[in-house]
Amino acid sequence: MRRYSAFAIAREAARHHLGWERAWRSPAPKARYDVIIVGAGGHGLATAYYLGKNHGIRNVAVIEKGWLGGGNTGRNTTIIRSNYLQDPSAAIYEKARSLYETMSQDLNYNVMFSPRGVMMLAQTQHEIRGYQRTAHANALQGVATEFISPRRVKELCPIINIDGPRYPVLGALWQARGGTARHDAVAWGYARACSDMGMDIIQQTEVTGIRREGGRVVGVDTTKGTIGCGKLGIVVAGHSGVMAERAGFRLPIESVALQALVSEPIKPVMDVVVMANTVHGYMSQSDKGEMVIGGGADGFNNYTQRGSFHHVEETVRALVETFPIISRLKMLRWWGGIVDMTGDRSPIISKTPVEGVFVNCGWGTGGFKAIPGSGWAMAELMAKGHSPLAEEFSMTRFREGKFIDESVAAGVAH
Ligand SMILES: Cc1cc2nc3c(=O)[nH]c(=O)nc-3n(C[C@H](O)[C@H](O)[C@H](O)COP(=O)(O)OP(=O)(O)OC[C@H]3O[C@@H](n4cnc5c(N)ncnc54)[C@H](O)[C@@H]3O)c2cc1C
Repeated sequence: MRRYSAFAIAREAARHHLGWERAWRSPAPKARYDVIIVGAGGHGLATAYYLGKNHGIRNVAVIEKGWLGGGNTGRNTTIIRSNYLQDPSAAIYEKARSLYETMSQDLNYNVMFSPRGVMMLAQTQHEIRGYQRTAHANALQGVATEFISPRRVKELCPIINIDGPRYPVLGALWQARGGTARHDAVAWGYARACSDMGMDIIQQTEVTGIRREGGRVVGVDTTKGTIGCGKLGIVVAGHSGVMAERAGFRLPIESVALQALVSEPIKPVMDVVVMANTVHGYMSQSDKGEMVIGGGADGFNNYTQRGSFHHVEETVRALVETFPIISRLKMLRWWGGIVDMTGDRSPIISKTPVEGVFVNCGWGTGGFKAIPGSGWAMAELMAKGHSPLAEEFSMTRFREGKFIDESVAAGVAH
């Protein structure tokens, strides 16, 4: 595949952009692959990419029931940070964040990583103590964060109302190298690199069954027929429970809708990401000028990729009190994604009771930031049977009581 470069852009501009190749192939499925990944979201594609790049396993298919990146990967608010409390979480999220730093160069695809800084506001005494504790933990983990004063918050984000009517801003946990990236581009960049390595990305094809012989996976049934495989990775986020059932085991996952919305575009007003977890809303400004807004997850299980009215009202109310200047903005689009929640709000990257079947799920409301680290760990686990980054995230932790509790630590996990 031809590399993208400034020279290529100039050349194509001169010939009316007629010479660009398709970014990835759309092949018919082969009869058998060494590895099949179900789900062409960021995590599935990153798993395939690192299987090829780090382990030389390239006879791989990624099977997607819709279009690639059309799940949560293309629906999220793109916050990237690694300021988690627990050691295993900080390790995998920081690995991911560091891979984002060079992702555009590694993939030869501009994913628009913007390390503009992420602040999580402390608006209660409890939050101050919690975030100071996280800052100390991060220092020990080698993750660069600091607890900053309300004055510094105002300097970094002048449009914030630090005197808030209900909850004044008392400080913030600040990660200067956190930020955002273009979500579709992350999926597209990985897809292009996988296709370039000879892997097949098969869209509009649902995996409807998992074939086993003697307790071992031998293939999958799909809407385009049966396809054989040596190993299978289930990476389907909100549909993990459904796929696990098809493989004959259960996962401790609940699926709920999480919603987001964007405003009409305006001139640049903020160049950091702000998360206000007590009032519950978070906001950043996209390069197009839209204010990107996210809120809480639905309190009931469902599979509808839609927002619900009471949440959007709560979220917008929270943000109007934090950023009064947005009170007269019109909202352009509003959508939801189905997120996969575990009880301890930490992911599962694990072998399963079926030999050859691996699962990667449970990223819930916060897995975009983890995509490269998760793919790295899942690929290592599938290739070698063991990954130091994934070790603590086995599904057996729920039976053994070895939870990695990030729900209390973060309050919110995006
Ligand atoms: C509104 C919203 C805001 C968010 N904000 C953030 C944020 O700011 N920061 C952050 O880090 N995270 C955020 N997240 C979470 C993040 O988007 C997800 O954790 C992450 O994208 C999950 O990626 P994935 O690849 O696991 O899943 P997905 O991108 O959902 O991909 C799974 C794919 O599997 C496919 N699939 C399912 N079943 C089958 C089947 N049977 N056969 C074939 N294919 C199948 C689906 O079609 C889908 O494309 C947010 C999520 C939402 C919904």
